[in-house]
Amino acid sequence: MFEGYAGTSDSGFRDEVEAEEAFARGQFLAEMGADDDRPSLTGPAGEEAEARLAELARHTVFDGQVVTDEARLRRILARHDTHLYPGTFITCVYNPDRALCRTSEGPADQPVMADCKPLVCRNTALTPANRQALTGHFARLEDALADSDRLAPYVRHRLEERHRATAAFLTCHAPEIAE
Ligand code: SF4
Repeated sequence: MFEGYAGTSDSGFRDEVEAEEAFARGQFLAEMGADDDRPSLTGPAGEEAEARLAELARHTVFDGQVVTDEARLRRILARHDTHLYPGTFITCVYNPDRALCRTSEGPADQPVMADCKPLVCRNTALTPANRQALTGHFARLEDALADSDRLAPYVRHRLEERHRATAAFLTCHAPEIAE
């Protein structure tokens, strides 16, 4: 997929769209890697995410800034794929050997974000924005359970399980408070 960073004039429309999405993702990650003041990613793969961002920054950041020449940045990103995939609730630190969204029929070189199992997959990392989104999801679960007498037993049971798992995950992977 990341050869697509550069794009080609004879590739089809879908390839062009994928190339631009990949480039936008790479730019976003390069900016993250250049930001020394941002909070570290947390979660099971938080440390690995930071290591991959630091490695990307070695190639994309000069004098504290991401390379501004777009063609050059595209070439760099094409050579140095982080295999990090930012999402709403989590950031995927893709490692195929432990990817719970992977199936024998699916792609091996990238996650299937639509089938993500964020609370149990060891490829999960959290940015502050991810954590905020997950906390919002948790609040919505609480709201739904506050009115649980109106729910079918099976639905209530599923919501209670998800509520417990989300609470445990957020507690277990809370950011460290700086002293
Ligand atoms: S299950 Fe989620 S975190 Fe795990 S590899 Fe797939 S998309 Fe990434």
